[in-house]
Amino acid sequence: MTRQAPAIHGRPLDAWLATHPLIGDLIAGRETAWFNPGIAPAATGLADAGLTMSDVEDASARLTRFAPLLVRFFPDLAATAGIIESDLVDVPAFAEALRRRYGYASGGRLLLKKDSHLPVSGSIKARGGIYEVLMRAETLALGAGLIAVVDDYAALGEDSARAFFRDYSVAVGSTGNLGLSIGIMSAKIGFRTTVHMSADARQWKKDRLRASGVTVVEHTGDYGAAVAQGRAEAEADPSCHFVDDEHSKDLFLGYAVAGLRLKPQLAALGVPVDAQHPLFVHLPCGVGGGPGGVAFGLKLVFGDAVRCLFAEPTPSPCMLLGVYTGLHDEISVQDFGISNATVADGLAVGRPSGFVGRAVQRLVDGYLTVTDQELLDLLALLKASEDLMLEPSAVAGAPGPSRIVADAAYRARLNLDRDRLDAATHIIWATGGSMVPPEEARKYLRGAGEAASR
Ligand SMILES: *Cc1c(COP(=O)(O)O)cnc(C)c1O
Repeated sequence: MTRQAPAIHGRPLDAWLATHPLIGDLIAGRETAWFNPGIAPAATGLADAGLTMSDVEDASARLTRFAPLLVRFFPDLAATAGIIESDLVDVPAFAEALRRRYGYASGGRLLLKKDSHLPVSGSIKARGGIYEVLMRAETLALGAGLIAVVDDYAALGEDSARAFFRDYSVAVGSTGNLGLSIGIMSAKIGFRTTVHMSADARQWKKDRLRASGVTVVEHTGDYGAAVAQGRAEAEADPSCHFVDDEHSKDLFLGYAVAGLRLKPQLAALGVPVDAQHPLFVHLPCGVGGGPGGVAFGLKLVFGDAVRCLFAEPTPSPCMLLGVYTGLHDEISVQDFGISNATVADGLAVGRPSGFVGRAVQRLVDGYLTVTDQELLDLLALLKASEDLMLEPSAVAGAPGPSRIVADAAYRARLNLDRDRLDAATHIIWATGGSMVPPEEARKYLRGAGEAASR
């Protein structure tokens, strides 16, 4: 007797498994990696986004215009003259610990990009989120004649400017970190600010936002539900700007500026990036804007010498699923019964951004998944080896080098012989965690297996 299985996007599950066998791993929660055979040379793939280097340079110039205002708002930023940027550092002990854990030989130099320690909001969201709020503020201020592009933007910190911005509002839906970045910046500017938080958002992030004068609305649903509700409420109010994490080009461009800034950082560390010295960048992926924007910026700067990989938790492999099936935002992990319940709250996204998936799918070499337990173990491993505490999302890229070594077909496609692998550099993009309260950190570390913390 046969039973009629419910169709998923018009097809029964076994038809999906026949054409897309990796979906079996995703449903089973097994760690997997997929190296996309459909990637294109940078010169071709970069055309998909509809954005160019001059857009990214424009975003960078805007951030420079706002730098004096940011110093006024956040005195700690005086050290970098108002530029919000993170360090790129060697992590030799962590590199050695990863080689032992996953059992591979060299594979090149390992660096950590500490967006976890970005000033103001302590996560990669300080790039895109803050940029979009500043973009909005500049558009309104220029339109009202409050300021001209040649002026010192520190003037926008005056009470009169804040009173002007008070007539406008900003709203966003978030699993936590985007809300923090938007909320802190938007409230400083003077906008009335509402953050719609998904059920998995951490209490301390809500507390911190409320302390900054932000209205926090708590939703019982996941990230997608919080965004949908936030968008609906914002649409009813013409003075409200909704930061749309699933579609925003401004967010994307804010992230992409990272690509421009990485170049001098790599040069300062003496890291060559060319055909003989490939640069692999391992980026944790939620809805896709952060890693997509960074990857886009890196491809503009380094072309085919940079290879980007996205990492997702096994319960939330939304970008892998979207690109692998070609359905992007038309499909969600929940459609396949995958839970989207993960300890990596920054990555707890069930449906990817359709804009980002389509913009960067030919620029991103591969996608890997990591179990929650592995994320906690990697957190403990980083803490034990480098005395550095992050949040679970931030270490998702760490298994990346081992997955490259393990995939003979991908290495053959890229001509990655032993010499070229040894000459490579890997950047683990550590996306958040410096603001995690100590008691939360202890909870994460208790969740790690014994072997990882030694
Ligand atoms: C948001 C976030 C990401 C991923 O960014 P997306 O734009 O959602 O893909 C990764 N790590 C942390 C810590 C984050 O907060």
